[in-house]
Amino acid sequence: MDHALNTAPHAEIREEVRKLCARFPGEYWRELDARRGYPTEFVKALTEAGYLGALIPEEFGGAGLPLSAAAAILETIHAEGCNGAACHAQMYIMGTILKHGNADQKARYLSGIASGELRLQAFGVTEPTSGTDTTNLRTFARKEGDKYIVNGQKIWTSRAEHSDLMLLLARTTPKDQVAKKTEGLSTFIVDMRTAKGLTIRPIRTMMNHNSCEVFFDNMEVPAENLVGVEGRGFRYILDGMNAERLLIASESIGDTKWFTQKSVAYSRERVLFGKPIGTNQGVQFPIAKAYAQMRAAEAIVQQGLEKFEAGLPCGEEANMGKMLAADAAWAAAEACVQTHGGFGFAEEYDIERKFREARLYQVAPISTNLILSYIGEHVLGMPRSY
Ligand SMILES: Cc1cc2nc3c(=O)[nH]c(=O)nc-3n(C[C@H](O)[C@H](O)[C@H](O)COP(=O)(O)OP(=O)(O)OC[C@H]3O[C@@H](n4cnc5c(N)ncnc54)[C@H](O)[C@@H]3O)c2cc1C
Repeated sequence: MDHALNTAPHAEIREEVRKLCARFPGEYWRELDARRGYPTEFVKALTEAGYLGALIPEEFGGAGLPLSAAAAILETIHAEGCNGAACHAQMYIMGTILKHGNADQKARYLSGIASGELRLQAFGVTEPTSGTDTTNLRTFARKEGDKYIVNGQKIWTSRAEHSDLMLLLARTTPKDQVAKKTEGLSTFIVDMRTAKGLTIRPIRTMMNHNSCEVFFDNMEVPAENLVGVEGRGFRYILDGMNAERLLIASESIGDTKWFTQKSVAYSRERVLFGKPIGTNQGVQFPIAKAYAQMRAAEAIVQQGLEKFEAGLPCGEEANMGKMLAADAAWAAAEACVQTHGGFGFAEEYDIERKFREARLYQVAPISTNLILSYIGEHVLGMPRSY
């Protein structure tokens, strides 16, 4: 276990993040979990330390670090029992502005996002009727002079109540008027602080995730807030997905390390029938297996990060890494509960909370089936299924 932690890249960053996380122990997360509260102090600490602006270039006030550094930050947060989901999107949503925004948008938003003065951590893509079938989304932005009028609804817009800006994907040309269904979708920066006709409704979920439904009723968005070229938004969103998947995979790797450490420690100290329960291979093997799965995921994620940083296509590694890491975390979570017996269910052990949190990554930000379908079609060249 120590081997995996000590040889990982960005050792200094990991050490500093570890120290920061030590200020936010299990009690902190437990209390928030019970009332579905937002970890304001934790997010403030990460912001002040500059971690959430890690990927923003120095010319815009960020740390200008590579994606692997952001991955190390999020992995460590999770390995220490904390949760990056409250703010991880502040790190990567801005990538769409950085890559596809104009000079004015970069000047207007990036330094504020780097300092934390502006929170861009809401991402409005999923809708209740279309779900994973993104190009069938219904939210429509109609151009009228120098603004767009937006009508529709999003679901699972995480952190919407704790964000100043939202990156919104909406249709700007009806689907029956475009040659390909991926065309005619556009991305907008919505200033949620001033937007009229915007309603946010929180959804209570099995874990503390601050996810919401968002309704747009003739919401006006200035035309200058369109990112890139009208109609090309789907491509821009896809562009950001590999980074997101590699970062979420890193969180799952961190979760696996946390569960594994807990399981190993308990299996050594819990004595039954005159010997530690860890001496039983029935206890050891599920823990060992999940650890092996995690190390494989870690290797693929590392390859993905290297390719991403070299500007090479990394869809295969990003997708496989995300799936393998989420599977490893879920296997480690299951082994951890089982190893702890009844105590695995007690809130004060934090295992049941992490168990609930780890389950999400089988579904979001992309579900396992859709990853398998990506591998089948785009990596292995099998016929398209949808
Ligand atoms: C807590 C939480 C936070 C989230 N945060 C955000 C966010 O901030 N922004 C955002 O835009 N979205 C967010 N999401 C949405 C998330 O990305 C979706 O839930 C996810 O992509 C799955 O979509 P869906 O829920 O609509 O399921 P559906 O698309 O309805 O799919 C249901 C099931 O059917 C399977 N399925 C569908 N089509 C196929 C197929 N062709 N072949 C095989 N299986 C298939 C899926 O794998 C899935 O298991 C969040 C979700 C949750 C639960």
